[in-house]
Amino acid sequence: MAHDLFSNIMQKDAPTTSEWEAEAACRQIAALCPPLDAEHVPLSQALGRRLRETVRATEDLPPFDRSAMDGYAIRHNDPATRFTVVDRLRAGDWRPRPLQPGQAVAIATGAALPDTGLQVVPRELVREEGDTIELLERPRDDHIRHRGDDARAGDVLVPEGTLLQPGTLALLASLGHARPRVTRRPVVWHLVTGNELVPPEQSPGPGQIRDSNSLLVRTFLEARGIPPAQWRLPEDETAMRELLQPLGTGTVAVDLLLVSGGASVGPHDFTRRILEECGYEIVISRVRARPGRPLIVARRGSSLAFGLPGNPLAHFVCLHLYVNSALRAWDGAPHSTPAWFTGRLAHGLHTEPGRYPTFWPARWTFDAEGRAEVQPLRWQSSGDLTPLATANALLRLPARPAASAAGSPVSFLPLHLEP
Ligand code: AMP
Ligand code: MG
Repeated sequence: MAHDLFSNIMQKDAPTTSEWEAEAACRQIAALCPPLDAEHVPLSQALGRRLRETVRATEDLPPFDRSAMDGYAIRHNDPATRFTVVDRLRAGDWRPRPLQPGQAVAIATGAALPDTGLQVVPRELVREEGDTIELLERPRDDHIRHRGDDARAGDVLVPEGTLLQPGTLALLASLGHARPRVTRRPVVWHLVTGNELVPPEQSPGPGQIRDSNSLLVRTFLEARGIPPAQWRLPEDETAMRELLQPLGTGTVAVDLLLVSGGASVGPHDFTRRILEECGYEIVISRVRARPGRPLIVARRGSSLAFGLPGNPLAHFVCLHLYVNSALRAWDGAPHSTPAWFTGRLAHGLHTEPGRYPTFWPARWTFDAEGRAEVQPLRWQSSGDLTPLATANALLRLPARPAASAAGSPVSFLPLHLEP
């Protein structure tokens, strides 16, 4: 039964072995991650969240006629040129009164008009003498923001699925929509394994290195609003089993488990074996791409686990391609798999034809004409760290790149929209 359910969500292009083309892997991962439940959050915590309701105007916007200028309200087309100022209104005042011909009310920008059938004469167009004004010029515009000009009660203002940005939040605030319904964030556990690893602030002993993946994963997730629970463990099967046991028994609900490291001979099987012991079903155990070829993707009910190869560059690529597809799909993003852009190679690139497509760390920017230009960064192996310094894109190269002269069109994934 569980197996039938599983086969229903397997993509049509699912390979019979668990070695996958990278794009098919992204699609499969997204298919395994239907949108998570929704929750209500305060506006101050809603930045970057996906709206899971349609928000309509509950009243007309603006809700009353208000002045668009600092000036004087008079009867529309009142033929007089001298007026008596009978009141002075500031934004926030509410003093309706019938205005007679020859009368004016001094009014500030944003203040409610005292009557219907008025126009506002900007201050610059009158001469003021105590409580009288003289009109120097009659404006053509009425300088009023009329009730309902912006929206009518019932109009759809924010469609479901919108990603909440500062502007959207400002609108929701003005509507008094103080607790929007948004997709909940996934619960993420990250486990870093490796006997060679020490924390960044520590000096490595002989044979040791500093752990860079913990920070990479933490900040990658935090940038998406997800604070992960993290552990750094030696490569010890018992310790890992102990930590993950509550997942197997269902004592804790974790949507996403990331296990870093343990991708080389032997230890790789150890991640896989422990995932299986915890009730995970292996979906993908390799991708036909580099870096990041030994990737494990497993599922258990609605939760997902990734075994990420420990090399920093492989981590970088796997997070942005595969883990991000899961996060976007869970969030309910309209396109959860990577959206490839087209740019031009900043300089020629010589690559040996390989067996697999490559996701090449790159730096994209704009050329003088405002077109995207992609500069491939120097790297030799997935263990390299230095390309991470400035990489803001992944360049997608086929196994046998056709044209790689400077200026050739290339496919790339921007990791930040501002280069
Ligand atoms: P593994 O996948 O555990 O076989 O690791 C592959 C390579 O990545 C090895 O050279 C590890 O030392 C390195 N590595 C593993 N985990 C980390 C980490 N957290 N930070 C930096 N390098 C790592
Ligand atoms: Mg290791």
